[in-house]
This record gives sequence, structure tokens and C-alpha cells, in this order.
Amino acid sequence: MTSKAVIATTSSHSSLYNIVPGALEEGLDVYVVCFDRDWELWSQYPDLLKKINILRVNDYSDAQSIVRKLNGISGEIVIVPHGSFVRYLSVEQLKRLKHPILGGVKILAYEGDRDKNSGLLTASGITTPKIFDKASKIDRPVMVKLHGAEGGKGYFIASNKEDFNKKKKGKKVNFIQEYVSGVSIYAHYFSSPIEGRCELLGFDRRLESNVNSQYLAPNEEPSFTVVGNVPIAVRESLVPEYHRMGTDFVEQTGLVGPFCIETICTTEPKIYAFEFSGRIVAGTTVWVPNGNTYANLLWNEPMYMGKRIAREIKKAYESDSLELLTVDSPNLEEI
Ligand code: ATP
Repeated sequence: MTSKAVIATTSSHSSLYNIVPGALEEGLDVYVVCFDRDWELWSQYPDLLKKINILRVNDYSDAQSIVRKLNGISGEIVIVPHGSFVRYLSVEQLKRLKHPILGGVKILAYEGDRDKNSGLLTASGITTPKIFDKASKIDRPVMVKLHGAEGGKGYFIASNKEDFNKKKKGKKVNFIQEYVSGVSIYAHYFSSPIEGRCELLGFDRRLESNVNSQYLAPNEEPSFTVVGNVPIAVRESLVPEYHRMGTDFVEQTGLVGPFCIETICTTEPKIYAFEFSGRIVAGTTVWVPNGNTYANLLWNEPMYMGKRIAREIKKAYESDSLELLTVDSPNLEEI
């Protein structure tokens, strides 16, 4: 046993600006599989690189090399997943990793399957937009999501079947969901077996182009490509609702570690959850390094997601209970 808890992850925006700084702040050892594509950016931070172990892989799409590099690290290590981590490694490949993953594999498999993703929210008693299994059933504006879409790229809104057929040409449609009109709010949570609670750590919203542009020119189709994130403090009456939502979700799923419920808040105001992410999301980086209103009040110190992850791993390591953080929930089926 080494004297420090150790984490490993791959290069990404979340790992560079959030997971790794948090781990270093908490005194953890860090391994990062860094792709050539990302090296130009990572090499801008020589002071950070001196403090971590870098394992180079040429191509981010070379899943076999990623698995080999991660499996080549010896000792007791926790793998910390993030958005691109689960995009580049399939569930099969995640299962081939010899080191345990924070939060387990099952929740990541659910996250990646749109029907199961939405089903888990519904099963937790959370209000979700209606799903349409056939275009012929569309009876209201819908959000049409594509296969392999990243951050809303290529999504479109259709108001009926004819509109859908016209706009879907050349696109691989994966999911048709009721379009909810309102403000998007991404709620960040941490489910902690060590503290025995689900923590509401903060909120962000995405800036999406062109729906968040200054002005939409006449005849311009809306587009939801994510270009950044901004912090939000939500309306007072919504805070307990979001808190309840996270707690209910943890109770139903047995989820451990960081997660995000992605919502739209309507004029009523009513909250609809259109998706969850069972790991750290990019939007939590808006709070590095100073933390925010919610997280800091809970912890009486600056707290952000990367640091929160590291704190949990450190405490679990010190009490010899890392398996509490990496075990798959018995509430979830094998996928
Ligand atoms: P990521 O994997 O990065 O989360 P994604 O490709 O899964 O992205 P979503 O998060 O599902 O995409 O959606 C992208 C954006 O589209 C959201 O941020 C939101 O603005 C909008 N959106 C998604 N679903 C709905 C919906 N049902 N009603 C209204 N807007 C929606």
C-alpha cells in the first residue's frame, strides 16, 4: 500500500482544470493518460505536469491503448471518469479496466443509453419530457437527438411529423423527446457514502450556439452546440426542489460519487429533467478553485467538484473503504 490515495484519468478539459487540481489540492497521486491531441494544451502548464505522472497515447480513439496504459499502472488506484472518458471507452472496454472506477460501471452504461437514462429519472419520481418512439406520434414540439451527438450538435426541433421528416434528412436520429420551453439548469451533486448524504454542490447553465446568441436572424434554425458554461444561483424556491430531486435519484439508483441532473425550468416554474450524467460534468469547472454558495456553506471551505471527488477518495482510502466508492449499485441491472 502506498502512503497516498492514487487516481488515474485521461486528458480532457474536466481533468486538466478540475479533477487534477482537486486531487493535487488534497494531496493525492495522479496518473493521466494524455492524448497527442491534448498535449499542446497540457504542455502549457509545466508546473502542473511536474506534480503528476503522464502516460502518452497518440490517438484518443485508440481505446485498446488507453485500456493498456491504465491497466499498466500498479498499486491501488481509483479511476475517475469524465465526459470524454465515457465517450472514448465503450462499456465493454470499461469492464476490461483492472482498476475500479469511481461510481462503478453500471451507472455509466445507463447514462449512455437514452431510454435507460430517461427511465431511471422517471423511476426516481422525477418529471421528464415525454418520449416519442415513432415520428407518427408527434403531437407537440419535439427535440430530436442524434446518434453519437456531442453537446447538442446537430439536434433539431420539429413541430410535427412532416416537419420532422423534412429536417431529419441525412441525420441519424436516435431519440425524440418533447421539447420543453424554458431555461436550462444543470444541477451538480455528489453522493457520498463516507458522509452518508447526497450533496447539492451547485448549478450551471450551458451557453449554446446559436440558441443563446444575441439575436437569431430570420429563418435561422436554432442550434444547441455547447460553447461554454456559466454559473447560476437559482431562484430560492427551486433549491429545496433540486435538493429533493438529487436525494430521490440517489435513493432509487444507489449512485455513488459526482452526478448531474440536466433540467429545463419552465415559466410555472416547473422542472423537467431531460438527462442525467453519472459522473463529473464540464459545467462544474465554473467553480474551480473558489467553490460556490452551496458547496462552500456545506463544507465551510472553498469546495468544487474535483476537490470534492479527491476528498471522498482520500477519506475512503484512509479508512480502508475504497470499495464503497467503486462498487456497482445492486439497484441497477447489468448492461
Ligand atoms: P452531452 O452529452 O454533452 O450532455 P447531449 O448530446 O447528450 O450532450 P443534451 O444534453 O441531451 O445533448 O442536449 C443538448 C442541449 O439541448 C441541452 O443543453 C438543452 O439546451 C437542449 N435540450 C435537450 N433536451 C431538451 C428538451 N427535451 N427540451 C428542450 N431543450 C432540450
